Amino acid sequence: MPYSEFDIYENSINKTDSAAGSVTVFMAKDGDKDVIIADKNPGFKGTDLGNGKIKAPLSHENADVLRQLFPFTAPSRVLGKDRSFGLGDRLGIATPGHIKLFKKYDVYPVFAQQSIRELNLTNRTYEDVLDSATFAVFREGFKKEWGADGDHLKTIKDVEYALSLGFSMITLDCSDHIKTDVTDVNAPALSKEYADKYLGKNFDIGEGITLRFTEAELKTIAGIYSEAIGFAVDMYNRFLKDGTYQADFEISIDETSTPTTPLEHYFVAKELTDNGVSFATIAPRFCGEFQKGIDYIGDLSRFEKEIKIHAVIARHFKYKLSIHSGSDKFSVFPFIGRETHSIFHVKTAGTNWLEAMRVVALTDPGLYREIHTYALSAFEEAQKYYHVTTNLANIPGLQTISDAALPGLFENNDARQLIHITYGLILSRKNADGSFTFKDRLYKLWKQHEDAYTSALVHHIGKHLEKLGLKEV
Ligand code: ZN
Repeated sequence: MPYSEFDIYENSINKTDSAAGSVTVFMAKDGDKDVIIADKNPGFKGTDLGNGKIKAPLSHENADVLRQLFPFTAPSRVLGKDRSFGLGDRLGIATPGHIKLFKKYDVYPVFAQQSIRELNLTNRTYEDVLDSATFAVFREGFKKEWGADGDHLKTIKDVEYALSLGFSMITLDCSDHIKTDVTDVNAPALSKEYADKYLGKNFDIGEGITLRFTEAELKTIAGIYSEAIGFAVDMYNRFLKDGTYQADFEISIDETSTPTTPLEHYFVAKELTDNGVSFATIAPRFCGEFQKGIDYIGDLSRFEKEIKIHAVIARHFKYKLSIHSGSDKFSVFPFIGRETHSIFHVKTAGTNWLEAMRVVALTDPGLYREIHTYALSAFEEAQKYYHVTTNLANIPGLQTISDAALPGLFENNDARQLIHITYGLILSRKNADGSFTFKDRLYKLWKQHEDAYTSALVHHIGKHLEKLGLKEV
């Protein structure tokens, strides 16, 4: 082996033909860092190793070169596939574990998926989010397609930012344009166009379901959603209509205070379609509560009935339902799998962070205790950003728990939410001298215990896929 001086990631060895001839590129360990090695330099910026060989750091510009050379390391449009699954990896270290799992299932992963809020809370950039996925895909030799989601974007600037980097999917968050305070009493007068189009008609959406609008319902729904629809049409025409960017479009109407009714869902889908918007998914707000990092809270039989109608509407217009805040919603996954006929997009994020913290509890109880104690003190601050019904009194005091029992806290919903919503504060916490209180120690630990994190993810995210009705292939 000509590269015996390197500790090579076997699955990363790839050969390409470029203008300069065939180039062998792989990833290897170099001390406590990973590097790219190539036997000729196809454009990496790094250190010359002699004989034309180059050693290149995992920088953004080198990630760009990698994506050019090996298209499987660049994101693809997977939202149009029957099954796709979002894996918000806030730490940039979860993809090897996700790859191990997703190799075995007939579902397309969206490895890179972050909202601007998450970027701010973790002090990351979209470059970094995308590059972390690219490097992991290259290292592990994952040759299936995967996606990158600019999640919950609200502005022209943010959408352009994600698209310009090659993100393969945009989730447009329409919530700022949804007028939730509109009722049939204060709604603006109904336009003639809407009245002619909707009133006195039966909308047969198949599977025995017919929808009908009363005048009051139509007026209210138009009042609530017209501006949001206009916003989505505008953003579509601006970025995607003429093919300037190749990306799938998801319409998110889930960040509202009340559930999306079937009539509302139908109206939004019909108006978008009639206005020429081509979209792959809609994320409605479902009944009950989809709180962060814990199972569904609410009436299961009502959920079962409503998801069925939402799924029929999606099938009628030929797009997929997107399920947001999908972390740990085990009790409703079977309904989602069944009623969508196993055609869905599900997003998770926080649960991947929680699994990383479970590894901390397992491998460094002292550090875990420090962080847990800090999280308790930071909880009130963190609660400003999240809707949760956490009762801290349900979390046993740390002094009553043995080290061996610490990982068990991740079976306690209140402890899960405590650690879940404080992630940004935990990661950004600094000492008086400006150094990070936890962040650097955490990343060091996760690097050391990469296998433990991989096992935790395979187990826990695997449970999501199984409950959705997927089987290993
Ligand atoms: Zn959402």
